[in-house]
Amino acid sequence: GFEGLINSLMSELPPDIVTYNRPVRCVHWNNTKGGENPVMIECENKEIIAADHVIVTVSLGCLKKHHSTLFSPPLPSQKLLSISKLGFGTCDKIHVEFEFPWWDAECEIIYLLWEDEEKVSDEMKDISKHWIRKVSSFNVLKHSESGSHVLCGWISGYEAEYMETLPEEEIKRSITELIHTFTGDHTITPRRVECTQWFHDPWTLGSYSHPAIGCSLQDLKNLMEPLPKRGAQSQ
Ligand SMILES: Cc1cc2nc3c(=O)[nH]c(=O)nc-3n(C[C@H](O)[C@H](O)[C@H](O)COP(=O)(O)OP(=O)(O)OC[C@H]3O[C@@H](n4cnc5c(N)ncnc54)[C@H](O)[C@@H]3O)c2cc1C
Repeated sequence: GFEGLINSLMSELPPDIVTYNRPVRCVHWNNTKGGENPVMIECENKEIIAADHVIVTVSLGCLKKHHSTLFSPPLPSQKLLSISKLGFGTCDKIHVEFEFPWWDAECEIIYLLWEDEEKVSDEMKDISKHWIRKVSSFNVLKHSESGSHVLCGWISGYEAEYMETLPEEEIKRSITELIHTFTGDHTITPRRVECTQWFHDPWTLGSYSHPAIGCSLQDLKNLMEPLPKRGAQSQ
């Protein structure tokens, strides 16, 4: 994971300089009163933090949903247009634990291919029946010291968002059926199933940004552009 990178960066910072669990309600970024700190960060707990500069790294999903309340004054229209044009979607992981591995020892990934794939798009209209077909593959995770055998399934798009609304038992049943369909072995039973919930997590609202149809490199540049623009009167 990213822990090594984070730990290395953190080791260079003075202790206690990073704070957690302090949601930001609004970034007041254009303090025209010209005080010492041109940016004021208003937290959900009403605390105000004064700053010279702010780097906002919330997800594109959060920007799409909260830009109107997260910034005061509102972001310039060029930035807003780029935020709306860039794509943001969902890709979830489904961890499936087994008591015994049923795959070959050297197997690293299992792809699922449906013979009647061309029919799938029409059938997919009833997402409650066919969401499971969107599980495209399983990665075999390294055998853990705890002795568990885990596959990591991948699902994306609306089907992932729908899956997040289902109880874990129902997901487990569908995954079990899927594995039975592909292996023909009806004795395989997952011990436990656990899914990510990137779409319903209020701090991410999805997982991956992507260049949607109609957006360009300029939209990425617009998003990176610092505010206020160079030469602007106010700070
Ligand atoms: C399923 C999945 C698998 C991935 N696998 C890999 C991989 O194998 N390798 C790889 O390199 N990358 C991978 N990535 C990508 C990687 O996770 C991201 O690139 C990385 O997390 C981005 O970090 P970030 O800090 O920019 O954004 P985030 O991790 O999204 O952090 C944004 C932060 O903003 C916070 N936030 C949101 N709103 C507010 C608010 N109002 N106030 C205060 N805080 C707020 C959120 O709580 C969050 O902590 C994967 C991503 C996903 C979704």
